[in-house]
Amino acid sequence: MVTVALNRALIFLGPPGAGKGTQAKQVAKSYGVPHLSTGDMFREAVSRGTELGRRVKPIMERGELVPDDLVMKLVEERLSQPDCAQGFVFDGFPRTLAQAALLDGIFEVRGIGKPLVIDFAVSADKLLRRLTGRWTCSVGGEIYNVYDAPPKVPGVCDVDGGKLVQRADDRPEVVKERLAAYERQTKPLTDYYSRQGVLKTIDAGASVDEVSRALNAVLKGAKS
Ligand code: ADP
Ligand code: AMP
Repeated sequence: MVTVALNRALIFLGPPGAGKGTQAKQVAKSYGVPHLSTGDMFREAVSRGTELGRRVKPIMERGELVPDDLVMKLVEERLSQPDCAQGFVFDGFPRTLAQAALLDGIFEVRGIGKPLVIDFAVSADKLLRRLTGRWTCSVGGEIYNVYDAPPKVPGVCDVDGGKLVQRADDRPEVVKERLAAYERQTKPLTDYYSRQGVLKTIDAGASVDEVSRALNAVLKGAKS
């Protein structure tokens, strides 16, 4: 049930596997705002076989970042939709300094205030376990982990009974490249947002419930 309005842009920053999607789903649901995962949008384009999907598929399979112009086009289109008017949660975007600067420009044009940026801090050993153990529902996108958050019945989603699948880019060799891309291209965003005074770091190495509590405390603190 939605009790409080979000009315702002949230950005979940952090390495692949940090738990951004898991928390973004909960926050988006409780505030009744869209969860905007650029990774999910690209995966959908790939599965539908669109022109965009055909372009990004080999890039994603290598664990590299999609070019900024393609990402920005997708984001601009999505932000123009009416369901973004009361706030939204970005998960996995922006991922380069260029994307962050372009997003600042979009916010200015659209009259959207400064975002609140949450940095999900997790150690490298936990990330590997989270990524290689991740299974996702092919119907509703619910996220599981065979080690830490297993479904009641193996391979089946607790929520809608959908088949659970493993992402192709969660294979260990691709994970290595994705973590390197994060260090090289995305980590500098923590300084970028810290300089703007909008960055909050949370310990994302804790359990899902503990991270959720820490996140809610930050969201409530930031609103008052
Ligand atoms: P991201 O969106 O940052 O890539 P996900 O939310 O998809 O990360 O989570 C990656 C994996 O880690 C999933 O298998 C998920 O179930 C698991 N996970 C998420 N948060 C936690 C947590 N706090 N503790 C343990 N496992 C977690
Ligand atoms: P994710 O689901 O966030 O882990 O993203 C999966 C893949 O989609 C990444 O490894 C990139 O190839 C691509 N991707 C998602 N978001 C972005 C972004 N903001 N910039 C560049 N590439 C992205």
